[in-house]
Amino acid sequence: MASVDNEKKLKWLYAFNITPYCSMASKELTNTAGPVTECPYGAEECNSQFFYDMSSSSGQQKRSMNENESYKSKKKQNVNVSQESCWFCLTNPEVQKQLLLSIGDHSYITLAKGGLVQDHLLIIPMEHVPASISLSDSAEKEIEKYKNALVSYFHDQEHDVIFFERNFVSPHLQIQIVPIPKSRTSGIMEIITEFAASQGLKFTELSKFSVLKQVAPPKKSYFYIEVVVNKKYSGKLLHVIEGNFPLQFGRMMLASKSILNVPDRVDWKECKMSPDEELQAAEHFRLSFKRYDFTRN
Ligand SMILES: [Zn+2]
Repeated sequence: MASVDNEKKLKWLYAFNITPYCSMASKELTNTAGPVTECPYGAEECNSQFFYDMSSSSGQQKRSMNENESYKSKKKQNVNVSQESCWFCLTNPEVQKQLLLSIGDHSYITLAKGGLVQDHLLIIPMEHVPASISLSDSAEKEIEKYKNALVSYFHDQEHDVIFFERNFVSPHLQIQIVPIPKSRTSGIMEIITEFAASQGLKFTELSKFSVLKQVAPPKKSYFYIEVVVNKKYSGKLLHVIEGNFPLQFGRMMLASKSILNVPDRVDWKECKMSPDEELQAAEHFRLSFKRYDFTRN
């Protein structure tokens, strides 16, 4: 944590869960901010999709996440993941803090555990909400600032950016950020649409100026993709989920031959780094992102 600025120490102390509860109103502690998405697999497996491997710490039998299994329909069960047990709420003392990269007032950035590429990131709101359409205005504004900062950062490193969000079997929103080398983004909208069609999924292309909150059907699960090329939104794609959905669709799509061509990295468990490697990767990112990070300037 040597690189964390002194003036931001309080936020990092909060993240390290020194005394977060005493400074929170009781309403904040109990607020689950809207309906929690039902999870057909159970809370633990929902939470283990991208960020944390709960199966290794809980001692439960690991579940293979191959493509066919991720489609499987199990009997649905209601899941009410509280903030205290949510692996994306910073108030959970078991959150793996070594992956944290930047902490704002309403959201934070972290390395994805078992990222598809080295700088596969997540933007996560402090609010325990399942989707970006449920965000407060202040969180939404800050997340937009983070997205713009990341777009500039990756652009300067010759990468364009794909953002995606799965509002399905996820109790706490994670906006996934995957940088794509500019040499691989020609015709990427068509490639994504074709890949989705090959999986039997139809995406609707939204106007570049559309706002998801205004166009997403209320109370429906969805998968949403934003493609940013040369620092401009070149496309927004929305799929409304009616039945089952491949939980790893985002990774499958980007790992495909026509985009990143890393088919062996679809399953995040195959991509996990050691704790030391995670620390080094996070430290490296924090240093190189520093001048783009509005929370540190
Ligand atoms: Zn949460």
